[in-house]
Amino acid sequence: MKSVFVSEFGGVDKLRYEDLPTPALAAGQALVKIAASGVNFIDIYFRTGLYPAPAPVVLGMEAAGVVEAVAPDVTSVKPGDRVAYAMCRGSYAEYAAVPAWQLVPVPDAMDLHTAAGSMLQGMTAHYLTHSTWELQPGETCLVHAAAGGAGQWIVAAAKLRGARVIGTTSTPAKAESARAAGCDEVILYTEQDFEAETKRLTGGKGVDVVYDSVGASTWEKSLNCIRPRGLMVTFGNASGPVPPFAPLVLNQKGSIFLTRPSLGHYCANREELEWRARDIFRWLASGAVKLHIDQVYPLAEAGLAQTALAGRQTTGKLLLEP
Ligand code: NDP
Repeated sequence: MKSVFVSEFGGVDKLRYEDLPTPALAAGQALVKIAASGVNFIDIYFRTGLYPAPAPVVLGMEAAGVVEAVAPDVTSVKPGDRVAYAMCRGSYAEYAAVPAWQLVPVPDAMDLHTAAGSMLQGMTAHYLTHSTWELQPGETCLVHAAAGGAGQWIVAAAKLRGARVIGTTSTPAKAESARAAGCDEVILYTEQDFEAETKRLTGGKGVDVVYDSVGASTWEKSLNCIRPRGLMVTFGNASGPVPPFAPLVLNQKGSIFLTRPSLGHYCANREELEWRARDIFRWLASGAVKLHIDQVYPLAEAGLAQTALAGRQTTGKLLLEP
C-alpha cells in the first residue's frame, strides 16, 4: 500500500511516498481502508523528531474510512462499517491497523471527509473546554491561533459553553475566520501587543484561562494575561517548545495553575471517547459548529500540506486523500 513516512527526521524533503506492507492485524485491532486522513501539527513534530518514534515513522494521527477486516477477537466493529478515529499514528496511508476500541461509528448523514477532519481537533477542543478547564458562562478565555484547525474548534466549543472568547491571529483575513468561528474579540498578535490588548479587553482583570498552542513565542506574555488563580493551558509548540522555567514564576503571576495536556490522556477509555465524539458529531449535525476544510491534497502531496501548515498559510482543516 502507498504510505507517507520518514526514515530520517528533518524537513519535508525527508518525507517518502512509497509502498509499505499493509499492516498485519494484532489482537484487538481492525484494518481501516482510509478515505481521508487529517493533517495536524503533530505530524510535523513526528517528521522533525521533536516527538521521537522508531523508524520508519508513518505519519498521520486521524482518519475516517471503512473497516476492511478485524482481528478474531474483535466484535465491536465489522467489515463494511464506516468509522473514524484519532491518536493512532499511521493514517498517511491507504490502510491503518487501529485498536478497535478507538474507532467510533460515523453517523449515516456525515461524509467521511467531515468525520476525518473533526476527530482530533474537535475532541481536543472538547476536552480543553469541558475537562481541562470546565468553562462556565461569563468566564473569558484567550485562544491563540484562533483561525487554525484546533483554534476554530476551541472557539466554537468555548462559545457553546457560554464563555467570552478573545482570539489571536496573524492576519486580518484570519481574523475574519476567527470571528466567523465565534470569537467575540480578535487581536492581531503580529501587530498588536496581545498582553496589553487582553488586559484592556478584560478591564485589567485578565482571563480565566489561556489556551496556548503556539508555545515559545507566546508563552511569556500568555502568563501575564491570566487572572490570579486562573489556568495556563500550554498544549502545542507551533512556534517551538516552551523553554524550561521555574515554578516560582506561577506564584509571581498570581498563584496561577499550569497544565500541558494531551488528547490521548483525555480519551483514556471508551466512555470518554464516546462522550467527546458524540458531542462533536452532534454539534456538526445541528450546525452549532461548522467545519472549515481549507484544502484536500492527494496523499502524495503531504509535503505541500505540511509546508502550508507550518508556513501559517492555512485556516481550518487540511485533509489528505489516498
Ligand atoms: P493550526 O491550524 O492551528 O496551525 C498552526 C497555527 O499556529 C498557524 O496557522 C499560525 O496561526 C500559528 N502560529 C503561530 N506561530 C507560528 C509559527 N512560528 N509557525 C507556525 N505556526 C504558527 O494547527 P493545528 O490545529 O494542527 O495545531 C495547532 C496546535 O495545537 C499545534 O501546536 C498542535 O500541536 C496543538 N495540538 C495539541 C493537541 C493536544 O492535545 N495537546 C491536540 C491538537 C493540537 P497564525 O498565523 O494566526 O499565527
